[in-house]
Amino acid sequence: MLIERAPKLYRNLYRGSHWRFNKDKKVVYLTFDDGPIPEITPWVLDLLDKYNIKATFFCVGDNVRKFPEIYRMVQDRGHTVGNHTFHHVQGLNIPTESYLADVKEAGKLIKSKLFRPPHGHMRLPQFYALRKQYKVIMWDVVTRDYSRLKTAGQVFEIVKKYTRNGSIIVFHDSIKSGDRMKASLPQSIEWLLEQGYSFELIEE
Ligand SMILES: [Zn+2]
Repeated sequence: MLIERAPKLYRNLYRGSHWRFNKDKKVVYLTFDDGPIPEITPWVLDLLDKYNIKATFFCVGDNVRKFPEIYRMVQDRGHTVGNHTFHHVQGLNIPTESYLADVKEAGKLIKSKLFRPPHGHMRLPQFYALRKQYKVIMWDVVTRDYSRLKTAGQVFEIVKKYTRNGSIIVFHDSIKSGDRMKASLPQSIEWLLEQGYSFELIEE
């Protein structure tokens, strides 16, 4: 529970960040973290095309550097990109200056006003500095597709249990999430459509 949906206390810590939009509308925001990579991202793009869904991809700068053609593909297919640092750094583990430098390095490749902190943590001074420059996007539902302790079925259950109007939902286009994401994402999309949700892009 504490992981899948962060408690209010935690949300309030990062005042001015975004966890959920449009509480009054039957709408969700799909987001994909940690790509772009050739093994997984094109598969996600094809699936989204099939349903004509646009999503937001929080990209790791180093992956953008290694796979510029995949990064271009994400944008060419009409999706939005956001900064997820250059080396996927965990803010609590490094000094604020280094963290901000890593975000800045990623920002040279990823032209976006959106930022999401890896692991969902930042020191407050890091957040205060980034908040001035970026729209900081957190989440309402973490699917935990990355967790080896979860099956694809359990990931799907998390989507069903926690999604509500305006939810920002996190999946991962990463090797670690791989098969679990591939098995649970189509099911989740089908279910969301059945429930009457429409899919929107996060605006910069
Ligand atoms: Zn991440």
